[in-house]
Amino acid sequence: MSRVEDLGSADIRAALAEGALSLAYQPIVSAATGAITGCEALLRWHHPILGAVQPAHFVPLAERTGDIVPLGAWVLDTACRQAATWPEDYRVCVNVSPVQLQEPDFPARVAAALRASGLTAARLELELTEGVLMGGAVALNAITGLRALGVSVALDDFGTGFSSLGYLQHLAFDRIKIDRSFIRALSEGRKSRFLIRTMHDIAHHFGMAVTAEGIETEDEARMLREIGSAELQGFLFGRPLPGEAVTSLLREQTRGKRRTARSPRSPKRAAP
Ligand code: C2E
Ligand code: MG
Ligand code: MG
Repeated sequence: MSRVEDLGSADIRAALAEGALSLAYQPIVSAATGAITGCEALLRWHHPILGAVQPAHFVPLAERTGDIVPLGAWVLDTACRQAATWPEDYRVCVNVSPVQLQEPDFPARVAAALRASGLTAARLELELTEGVLMGGAVALNAITGLRALGVSVALDDFGTGFSSLGYLQHLAFDRIKIDRSFIRALSEGRKSRFLIRTMHDIAHHFGMAVTAEGIETEDEARMLREIGSAELQGFLFGRPLPGEAVTSLLREQTRGKRRTARSPRSPKRAAP
């Protein structure tokens, strides 16, 4: 095996069985305070010969072969277990493939992952792409079932799919994530700014929160704060980190918050 293009189903299954997969966690921050509010779990595959294989390559392959079902189950279990060790005010966001949503027992699997890890449903957010809308009634029922569990559901890469916006009339999402392609275009002029503003308006009218992804510069962050994104994610705020590193980071932030809450803002002087 010398080329990524030659990887197949057997390699993915071997990676899963041999522990060659891991999750990295990228911080998501509050646009208002800059504090971390949660982290997105992102799959990493370290191949013994090829080194790092990108999810953009192997996730579509796993979707074609059906291996995404056991792979996705591993991601969900691992992310929930890891997040259960974090302080309680952080959520974990897990990417879910449209193929997983076609499994009739998917909501039950999510419920089992929560039970096994002890993570509360409110701390889990599942990220779906517009591709799920091709899944028809099965996908729609799954989304309803997931929200009934108390899990939140985000629409990832909003605006990059081929679907019409009509689905928003029938489907409830808790959040949209604006794709980084729109953010990159911000510096190029007013069209992108207008599109991003319109996405915020849509989200606002449908009661959905907005996360802007792929923020790399202070200028981008400033523009998105002005437009009104609730949360920001991107290399400017943090790259995806290994599990242990992100757990330490979150514990450190929580300790810092407690210290700030305990210490008085200004020492009061005794009246003369
Ligand atoms: P996504 O869910 O939209 O995840 C965001 C991607 O953008 C991640 O790439 C992240 O590392 C990258 N990113 C974040 N901030 C920046 C930035 O400031 N600049 C740039 N240039 N990139 C940034 P990654 O980890 O390579 O993942 C790519 C895609 O693969 C994900 O896009 C998601 O669609 C898919 N994926 C990753 N993990 C999983 C998984 O566990 N399950 C499924 N079904 N798909 C996954
Ligand atoms: Mg995502
Ligand atoms: Mg995305």
